[in-house]
Parts: sequence; structure tokens; C-alpha cells
Amino acid sequence: MSHQMPESTGAKAHSARMYDYFLGGKTNYGPDRQAAAQTMAAFPNVLTAARENREFMHRAVRYLAREQGIRQFLDIGTGIPSAPNLHQVAQREDPACRVVYADNDPIVLSYARALMSGTPEGATDYIEADARDPKRILDHARGTLDFDRPVGVSLVALLHFIADADDPQGIVGTLVDALAPGSALVVSHGTDELDTTLRKVVEIYAAQGITVQLRGTEDVRELFTATGLTLIEPGIVATCDWHPEMADSQDGMRRPSGSITPEEVGCWAAVGLKP
Ligand code: SAH
Repeated sequence: MSHQMPESTGAKAHSARMYDYFLGGKTNYGPDRQAAAQTMAAFPNVLTAARENREFMHRAVRYLAREQGIRQFLDIGTGIPSAPNLHQVAQREDPACRVVYADNDPIVLSYARALMSGTPEGATDYIEADARDPKRILDHARGTLDFDRPVGVSLVALLHFIADADDPQGIVGTLVDALAPGSALVVSHGTDELDTTLRKVVEIYAAQGITVQLRGTEDVRELFTATGLTLIEPGIVATCDWHPEMADSQDGMRRPSGSITPEEVGCWAAVGLKP
């Protein structure tokens, strides 16, 4: 079934809908699929990269819930719902987990009901907001999350959409400052250090008016060290290599672990804790 393109979407592709296409979703339109096809021609591993990014998020959330006892999550740059969503992974560990989602794409808002169908014991909420206004996101999140207790903040495949001019380090600093000890930051980030062909992807997105800024290991490390966070072992690794043992068949994984290489995923991943 093909979806009718809403008037408001215009003729340009959107990052959330292109990512949805890469994940095999149905919430995407002609311009999204055209730009996605160009991306696949330039970087044929993009489908693997998107899936591995999503599965890193699943494993990181499971790790934080299971190994660090975190029961609250703030997910910024949520994306169009794609099962399992973050709250489903967390609430499988403990149905009392509380999750707040934020994204600035109106299409994600229109699907937010799927993000709020959590357990009766827990809570889920959604705010349409821009990551470049972290104070507004924090103010809203305080309605659902208790910031005197640990919160896991997830910025997964988000920060490469935030240009240096918009101060990603400042955004992360504002978020981390608001967190209690024992809180965590989860980051994945597009890079050209694993496969230089990702530079072509930047141009394809730019032609759609979407800014993508690839960054390196040291930039990712700085996000953690400058905010006083301690990286969890194994530190900064390709998404596919971050705690593969945390995978769960309920995530719907389509590959045996160990069969994917860092070059294929094009994204760094890291999780840090606030001492
Ligand atoms: N975190 C999800 C989705 C990643 S796709 C995952 O990893 O599976 C990136 C998402 O970030 C898109 O949904 C896009 O709409 C959102 N996004 C991009 N720039 C943003 C900004 N400035 N503020 C909030 N969300 C943003």
C-alpha cells in the first residue's frame, strides 16, 4: 500500500523518513525514497548501517537497565516508531521504566501514539522539540522523569544532524548538567573514519537541505570527557561492536553476531556514565 504524501511534507526528503526507509518501514514518500536510493548507490551498506545503529540503541538501553539499574530514559531524535522502540526494550527489563521521547519532525509526532503505548506501571511521553533547545526538552521531561534519580539520555544517530555552528557540545553539556550521578549518555554518530564513502552521503543529504556533519573518534570522545562522563568499556567502537552480548532475539535481529564489520556500519557508538 502506498502512502499519500501529506501537503506539508513538500518535495524534499526528510532524514526521519529516509531512515525509516532504510529500516524497511512504510512511513516514507517519493522524495524520501529517491534520496534514499541515491544514498544506497553511494554507500551500499546503508541498510546494514541503519539496522546496526538501531540495534546498538536496543543493546545500550538493555545494558543501562540491566547492568546500571537505570529506569528512566530521555530519547532525543527518536525517529519514526520502529519496533521495538526504546520504551519497549526498557519496559521488558522493568515494566516501571519511564521514557520521554523528543523529535523535531512533525511526522514523528503524528506517529507518537505508538511511542506512548507503554506498560501501565511505567510511563511514556512525547514532545515535539528541537535538540538545539535542550532546556525546553528538559523542562518538559521533568513532568515524567525524576531528575534527582539517574536518567539515560539517548542521542542515537542525532548529533550528526547538528552542525558545529549549533554547538553540539553545548547541547550535551546542558543535558548532562541536569542529570544526577549514575545517569548515562548514549551516543552514536556518523563518521568517515570507518568508510570514506560516507562523505558522498553528506552531499546527497545537503541537496535535500539536510545538514549532516560527520565526526571522528576524538570529537565523540570530547562529548563525554568535556562533560565529565566516564566511558563504559569498550569505549568508542563501531555500533556493531558495542556489547554484542546484550543482543536479544526479541529485538528481531536478522544476522548472527560477529558477521558485520565496522566499515559497513559507518557509525561510532559510545556510552558514558556520570560519576
Ligand atoms: N534515534 C533513532 C532515530 C535516528 S534518525 C534511531 O537511532 O533509531 C534521526 C532523527 O533525529 C530523525 O527522526 C530526525 O527527525 C531527528 N532530528 C534531526 N535533527 C533534530 C533536531 N535538531 N532536533 C530534534 N530531532 C532531530
